Amino acid sequence: MATVALDSRLSRPTAAFLSRTHKLLIDNEWVSAASGKTFPVYNPATGTVLADVAEADKEDVNRAVRAARRAFDSGPWRRMTGAQRNRLMWKLADLLEQHLEEFAEIESMDNGKPLAVARVADVPFAIEWFRYMGGWATKIGGTTIPWSAPGDFLSYTLREPAGVVGQIIPWNFPLLMAAWKLGPALAAGCTVVLKVAEQTPLSALRLGELIQEAGFPAGVVNILAGYGETAGAALAAHPDVDKVAFTGSTEVGKLIVQAASGNLKRVSLELGGKSPTIVFGDADIERAIPGAASAIFFNHGQCCCAGSRLYAHKSVFDRVLEGVTAEAKKIRVGPGLDPSTDMGPVVSDEQYRRVTGYIESGVRDGAQIVTGGRKVDQNGGYFVEPTVFTNTQPTMKIVQEEIFGPVVCAEPFDDADLERIGRQANDTLYGLAASVWTKDLSKAHKMAGLLRSGTVWINCHNVFDPSLPFGGYKQSGWGRENGAEVLSNYTEFKTVTARL
Ligand code: ADP
Repeated sequence: MATVALDSRLSRPTAAFLSRTHKLLIDNEWVSAASGKTFPVYNPATGTVLADVAEADKEDVNRAVRAARRAFDSGPWRRMTGAQRNRLMWKLADLLEQHLEEFAEIESMDNGKPLAVARVADVPFAIEWFRYMGGWATKIGGTTIPWSAPGDFLSYTLREPAGVVGQIIPWNFPLLMAAWKLGPALAAGCTVVLKVAEQTPLSALRLGELIQEAGFPAGVVNILAGYGETAGAALAAHPDVDKVAFTGSTEVGKLIVQAASGNLKRVSLELGGKSPTIVFGDADIERAIPGAASAIFFNHGQCCCAGSRLYAHKSVFDRVLEGVTAEAKKIRVGPGLDPSTDMGPVVSDEQYRRVTGYIESGVRDGAQIVTGGRKVDQNGGYFVEPTVFTNTQPTMKIVQEEIFGPVVCAEPFDDADLERIGRQANDTLYGLAASVWTKDLSKAHKMAGLLRSGTVWINCHNVFDPSLPFGGYKQSGWGRENGAEVLSNYTEFKTVTARL
């Protein structure tokens, strides 16, 4: 057991949780990994060990899938009405609300994000997601279908839960991603094995305790911490899992598709992005500048929809570049628990090396750093300066590849032809999100039509609601999260036809 360094600013409940032994939730019991192994979870603000967590591997995945299968086939969950599932989900949301501060602290310590952000975004959003999705539990129905061919038949569809679901989530919004995944699966009546990211397993493990307290039947939610190549891969390949839902990198998304092919399990993927922020000459520049800065720097750029390519019309480019640079310089980088911090460390040493590696590659390729670009030396944490590049070329790695850090590439455009601007904005493998900044309504909506991305924001960026479908075109994914659309990830249609 490694020595765990706790921060004296943490509240008592958080300190008590972090000091506990962290196990796996299987069939309503907290159990050690079958191998007995644990792995260290790091505090990204210091690089020291924050907790030791049981390390799930194939055998634990087998146990969890068995529990989820039993709960799906023969447990009380299957017989519950949507209204009963809804009540459990609202109870969970209420419990989460009662422990909001504790979850915000856990999230800040584990992921590195500012406590103030976790308090107003991650945790309240997770609560809202459970409540919104709980509402769907009573509204998932089929339709009666009028016949086209001659004959005296009655046909209707039923929507039934997809079955045992494997869910694999990333580290950028650990609790919120758990809510995005668990909410619709539970509303639909599925049972779940959730594999959380190895960098940030803690808030989901604490959520597991609240799931028990709320009274979900045994085996309905199983939570495993462990590495992707072992536990994640075993879950994606498991022959008794009916559906796998994944959020993470496009590279791993492709591995998930291959692993899922063994039993042709259903797959939904929410993957990477390289989203454009497009500022027209007629935009409200006073709003567009902080908007474009927040599009990339919110959550340290660790958002799949981060506005990492900034295009501004040449008539306003200098002002926009100067403004975004000034915003970047204002950002105070420091530990998440420090109240004066605007931006915490990136999540891990690996991510730190990846982001700084991209910055070095941009410089090598001849792009110009306008601000940032340096590592911030602070207590051994993984801090990177908010960075703005210009003078880039469309083929550069920093323009094409997802960096997943606080790094934006800014370029002017001098075109009035919206189709050409659309082609430039669409020129990546990805198609997750885009934002358009203009006061011209017609231009805004025409651009929304031209952009090949699952979300287009007009005069805003990073705006979410549980009711809004979210997901990607092209290599940004398959299927949609949220809204009514996500339910199709977790339901099967059954067509029933009766001769009358
Ligand atoms: P990132 O690059 O942002 O860390 P990843 O796509 O690597 O994102 O990870 C997202 C999630 O996918 C994590 O829970 C991780 O453990 C898991 N994962 C990584 N590799 C695999 C894999 N080969 N099979 C299944 N899950 C994986």
